[in-house]
Amino acid sequence: MKIGLIDVDGHNFPNIPLMKISAWHKRRGDSVEWYERLFSGHMDKVYMSKVFSFTPDYQYYIDADEVIKGGSGYCIETVNGKEIYHPERDSQLHPEIEHIYPDYSIYPELTKETAYGFMSRGCPRGCGFCHVQAKEGKRSYKVADLSAFWNGQKNIVLLDPNPIACPEWRDILQQLIDSGAWVDFTQGVDIRLMTEEKALMIKNIKTRNIHFAWDRYEDKEAVVPKFEMFKQITGYDYRKLTVYVLCNFDTTLEQDLERIYTLRDMGFNPYVMLYDKENIPKCHELKRLQRWVNNRIVFNSCRKFEDFDGRK
Ligand code: SF4
Repeated sequence: MKIGLIDVDGHNFPNIPLMKISAWHKRRGDSVEWYERLFSGHMDKVYMSKVFSFTPDYQYYIDADEVIKGGSGYCIETVNGKEIYHPERDSQLHPEIEHIYPDYSIYPELTKETAYGFMSRGCPRGCGFCHVQAKEGKRSYKVADLSAFWNGQKNIVLLDPNPIACPEWRDILQQLIDSGAWVDFTQGVDIRLMTEEKALMIKNIKTRNIHFAWDRYEDKEAVVPKFEMFKQITGYDYRKLTVYVLCNFDTTLEQDLERIYTLRDMGFNPYVMLYDKENIPKCHELKRLQRWVNNRIVFNSCRKFEDFDGRK
């Protein structure tokens, strides 16, 4: 069969379902290529995958007997700030494809020395601004061993939404330690679930930067001691400790500043994330807040937000 692939979001980040689909078809002896509307000719099947809902859909006619669409970009819709999952618009991978070793060769530049994948899915939190609960369920569960997508590469990009919420967190962290690879926890580590044992294990994983999130102001009492404990156990300084601070969701500027100052004073590197960023006017104080905090040099040289002049 002649199989075409379309990464609707572009080719800036490897699309894992497409890599698995490619591996599965190649194993069957099918030919697989990126679908190019002017050059590919007729295909037996074309797979389109879209991760982000804001990415515009593929606009052109597709010359194929069958076109299959899948990914969060097609089945998650944001309505009044809530992520709604439409299962009828989603195409789940067949278990045989889901568990196959990905075909990294379709993204040769992005996957040189780097493996990408999930060891767990789902998250027990159910944050209102996140689609994980809707798509993967309100619990974390293990889906794969590291060997399902890692084969000795120097770097591992772990995409799990909340790996330390998984009941098998010890197994997951131990496999990452044993790999000896540099691990990037792309979706962050849930500081609210941190324990001394988890912190010790994470310390034994090779990481360049660990990032956390402090999204809800009201978590202050719970998260501050956890941040302090993690820092004390690992001995990391702010260069390795980033904390995303969600603003413009349900907090005031005073609450945002309190989180930012608290994190800085504890030796963490706060990083402002703006909810619904596209609809915030350019000159809004939250845009200035973001420019101040996220530029490390400016943030270090200007201790107070009121002293920051965003026009400079
Ligand atoms: S903790 Fe993270 S992954 Fe879990 S629901 Fe909240 S934002 Fe999503």
